[in-house]
Amino acid sequence: MADEQWQVLTHSKLIGFAIGVTIFLFVLFKSEPGFVFLLDSANLLFHEAGHPFFGLISNRLAVYGGTLGQLTFPIALIISFWHKREPITFAASVIWFFENFLNIARYMADSRTLLLPLVGGGEHDWNEIFFRWTLLSNDTFIATLVKAIGWIGIGGTVGWLFWRGWQDRNRRSDPLPPTELEPRP
Ligand SMILES: [Zn+2]
Repeated sequence: MADEQWQVLTHSKLIGFAIGVTIFLFVLFKSEPGFVFLLDSANLLFHEAGHPFFGLISNRLAVYGGTLGQLTFPIALIISFWHKREPITFAASVIWFFENFLNIARYMADSRTLLLPLVGGGEHDWNEIFFRWTLLSNDTFIATLVKAIGWIGIGGTVGWLFWRGWQDRNRRSDPLPPTELEPRP
């Protein structure tokens, strides 16, 4: 594995991440389900940009464009930080990616009740998408699944980062390689 190339996590970086992620999770739990004000306002911007962008490719794709749009930027960051093997920013991007799932699930769950306030024309993406796929009656089930994937993704990423921190700790406390322990003649 290319694991060895990941930048080493120092204690201060780990503590910084722990504080950041604790605050983030606290805000996530406290927020209205699936809507963290600042973060999801940014997500909404990318969402709205996604509609016309993917609409350029195909008219039928435009309705998916919002959801694809809000995932595009986190994916771009994930790829970028993966290449740099920078564990903290990589983990933060993956967490952002999966946080989007909670927001998308909230929208999905609204497909039949249509209670969410909508931006831009009032067309309900997931009502339209589930209608096309004749899945409208399964909207809340699919939403629950997507939400679960979101939470598992967030939890798994936090776990991965602390696991990396633990690996780095072990590596730092490794004994000297055997050749250096051999007695000199
Ligand atoms: Zn939309």
